Amino acid sequence: MPIEYEMREGALVWIKNPITGVISYVVDVRGKSFAFTLGGREELQPDAPPPEPKALHNAIRVCPFCPGNEHLAPPELMRVTPSEFPRWRGGQQLEGASWVIRVFNNLFPRIPESLTGGRNESYIVIEDPRHFSESPRSINDLMCTGALGEEHFHQLLLTDIRLMQRVLENPTVHSVVIRKNQGRESGASQPHPHQQVIGSPQPLPAIEAEARAERANPGLWQELIDIVDRAGLVIERHGSVVSYASPIGAFPRSYDVIMPEFRNGLTELPAEALREFSRAIFRLVRILGPLPLDYEIHQGAGLPLHAHINGRLYPYSNVAGTLNLPSQLVHNVAALRKALARN
Ligand SMILES: [Zn+2]
Ligand SMILES: [Zn+2]
Repeated sequence: MPIEYEMREGALVWIKNPITGVISYVVDVRGKSFAFTLGGREELQPDAPPPEPKALHNAIRVCPFCPGNEHLAPPELMRVTPSEFPRWRGGQQLEGASWVIRVFNNLFPRIPESLTGGRNESYIVIEDPRHFSESPRSINDLMCTGALGEEHFHQLLLTDIRLMQRVLENPTVHSVVIRKNQGRESGASQPHPHQQVIGSPQPLPAIEAEARAERANPGLWQELIDIVDRAGLVIERHGSVVSYASPIGAFPRSYDVIMPEFRNGLTELPAEALREFSRAIFRLVRILGPLPLDYEIHQGAGLPLHAHINGRLYPYSNVAGTLNLPSQLVHNVAALRKALARN
């Protein structure tokens, strides 16, 4: 069945998510106040007084993901050292660092290890040893993925791929997802920048639902790309990668990065295509900067390789299976394209 939606005078009015059935309505929220929702974020106020150095020091002292506290985390499985990544930007800020990226098991497996052959297949990938941004304005002014730089993000995905190769050696694992939460509004349980990699004994439900929707509509992804293109929501096209503001995302500010022709896992992706994919994700994450966000990389089950990126600053407004998309979205996408072109 084709995707159900309606356009009037070139503008999207509503669209039904073919995977979840949620209907997004485009509405004008310009008069709506978000003061309550966005209150209490002193790190976003440029005039806030600088935080006590002691408070920053204490946060680092108790963080199990900070350098010096390696003993507070499960045993290390992999690391990327500064000599393996000489272009690492943190080198000047954190002299004498012994690692840039570090991998260990998640203390709390997402899927019980009894279901993956007795091996815990949930992992934490620490993205950088730096806990805080370069000159923090509050205790919540944390290092964020968008500040790492494009090459660093590529190194991060290369580490994920090395880790995936290890995970896929476990014959009970059939599906692997990469997940990131940034900021407490997105449900991150640790302030220090990190990713999760999770191996699952069966296709993960989100991916299975997408595969099911594609069986019902084999042209699904191309059709979606055509709709977002006509609605003015495509952000960038580079080589075999397309990114767009998704009108059928989980949140009002959701973006997809997709390789419509590549229907395999990250471990199969040729080096040049990986660079394009990684770059397209990073460019969106950089624009979102320190704002709360999540992303998930979906692969396998014959689906085109893709990532969902959700801006989480605005409240989750799914009400009884409906979502409101701000009517300024098209203008926001145009501004985003301009900002990206400048970089
Ligand atoms: Zn830390
Ligand atoms: Zn997906």
